[in-house]
Amino acid sequence: IVDGEVDYDYFYLVLQWPGSYCNTGKVTCYDDAWEYRFTLHGMWPQKDGQGVSCPGSPDFHFNEVQSGSNNLLGRMDRWWPSFNAAHKRSNKPFWNTEWKKHGTCTSFTQSEYFEKAISRAEYLNLYLILFKAGIRPGMQTYTSEIKNEIEMTFNLKPRIQCNEDQYGTVQLYEITFCVDKTGTQFLNCTYSAACNREPIVFPRTYYQSTAQQCSY
Ligand code: 5GP
Ligand code: 5GP
Ligand code: 5GP
Repeated sequence: IVDGEVDYDYFYLVLQWPGSYCNTGKVTCYDDAWEYRFTLHGMWPQKDGQGVSCPGSPDFHFNEVQSGSNNLLGRMDRWWPSFNAAHKRSNKPFWNTEWKKHGTCTSFTQSEYFEKAISRAEYLNLYLILFKAGIRPGMQTYTSEIKNEIEMTFNLKPRIQCNEDQYGTVQLYEITFCVDKTGTQFLNCTYSAACNREPIVFPRTYYQSTAQQCSY
C-alpha cells in the first residue's frame, strides 16, 4: 500500500455550476469568471457510502503537475478553476485544499490525481450535452429533465444537488458521478443526500460585483 493510501471503493466526481456557487450571497467571486462549463469541485474517495478522511499531506506543488511534456496546468485552469475572489486569482489554494483533503488518500501522484479527474470532466462535457438538449442557463425551471438527459446520454445515474441563490430560488448547484478506484471508469453507485426540491432553475451566472449589476 502506497504511503497515505486509504482503502476506498470508488470516487465521487463532483462538478459544480459556477453560477450557483457564486450567486448565493455567501461568497464573492471574480466578476469575469467562465460561465460555459461545469467545473470540478473535486474527486472524493468513498468507502461504505461515506467520504474517507485523508492524511492531508503532502501539500500541492506546481512542479508536480508541470513537469516536462506532461504539463497539466492549462487543463487544470480550464476544468478546475477557483471562482472565489478571496484567492486573488490563483487556483492554487483550491487545488491544495482538494488535493490534501481528498487526493492524499489515493494511490495517485498529484499529476495522476488531477489528470484523472480532468479527463473524466472532459469526457462528460456536460454543458454541451445539456445545451444540445435545450437545457440552458436562463429563467426556465426543470424537474427531472436534467437527470434524464444525462442518464440517456451516458447510461449513468448522476446525483443532482441544489442550493439557493441569494433570494432563495432553488437552483442546480452540483452534478456528481461515480468513478471506479482506478479513476478511469464511470460506474453507477448510490449517493448520499441529493436535491429533493423541485422545480429548480439553471441560472445564468451573476456575480456580486458592480460589473454584474446591469441587466442584459
Ligand atoms: P456540499 O458542497 O455538498 O454542500 O458540501 C459537501 C461538503 O462535504 C464539502 O465541504 C466537501 O468537501 C465535504 N466532503 C468531503 N468529503 C466528502 C465526501 O466524500 N462526500 C461528500 N458528500 N462530501 C464530502
Ligand atoms: P469543500 O467544499 O471541498 O470542503 O471545500 C472547498 C474549499 O475550496 C472551500 O474552502 C471553498 O471556499 C474553496 N473554494 C475556492 N474556490 C472554490 C470554487 O470555485 N468552488 C468551490 N466549491 N469551492 C471553492
Ligand atoms: P506560487 O506558488 O508562488 O503561488 O506560484 C507559482 C507560479 O504559479 C507563479 O508563476 C504563479 O503566477 C503561477 N500560478 C499561481 N496560481 C496559478 C494558477 O491558478 N494557474 C496557473 N496556471 N498558474 C498559477
